[in-house]
Amino acid sequence: MSIKNNLTQIKIQLPSHVTLVAVSKTKPVEDLMEAYDSGQRIFGENKIQEMAEKHQQMPKDIQWHMIGNVQRNKVKYMASFVDLVHGVDSLKLLNEINKQAAKHQRVINCLLQLKIAQEDTKFGMTSKEAHEILNSEHYKSLKNIAIVGVMGMASFTENTAQITEEFTLLKSDFDSLKNTEENLKVVSMGMSGDYPLAIENGSTMIRVGSSIFGARNYTN
Ligand SMILES: *Cc1c(COP(=O)(O)O)cnc(C)c1O
Repeated sequence: MSIKNNLTQIKIQLPSHVTLVAVSKTKPVEDLMEAYDSGQRIFGENKIQEMAEKHQQMPKDIQWHMIGNVQRNKVKYMASFVDLVHGVDSLKLLNEINKQAAKHQRVINCLLQLKIAQEDTKFGMTSKEAHEILNSEHYKSLKNIAIVGVMGMASFTENTAQITEEFTLLKSDFDSLKNTEENLKVVSMGMSGDYPLAIENGSTMIRVGSSIFGARNYTN
């Protein structure tokens, strides 16, 4: 299967309210260009420097999403162009994104990453912490960021009942946060292995890598 065919297969299943982020981490620019040439304009990366290099080499109408854990000292390398930061898991990080965005007179859209998986390897804040941030005067004073939704990762398991429970939790956290901040619109959940389930449970944005670009090879 080609990248173009993979993309077509995924897109025909997507309801119109669900956005597809093509996760291109570790893949060469030629592969991303193949996706670009078949119409894909949103790409997700999990390393800031890799994303910045690809941004330089590729057409400028691409929207770049940072989906990985963000190191605060690297925010400056993406602040001029990043479209959406999925993995915001602390107020400190939000402050830094705000500061760097201000230098470019931009407003950077952010998602709060919530911990929904039962395993402890996944990053994220609690819904209580998310409520505290959204309700704070401090958040209102940050003029160069906008929190537009939430992101979460389900456990890496074959147990679909457990995955469904975790996705349902993220959606209900989103609904209750939306009572505080009506501008929230994005629920980023679902990857190659679980995106149909994520969509069933309220996802509005899926992050799909290997089903588009093939398996990743981390050894080279
Ligand atoms: C790598 C990655 C994905 C995509 O994973 P696939 O299983 O290849 O679809 C999605 N979200 C995050 C946060 C990732 O790091």
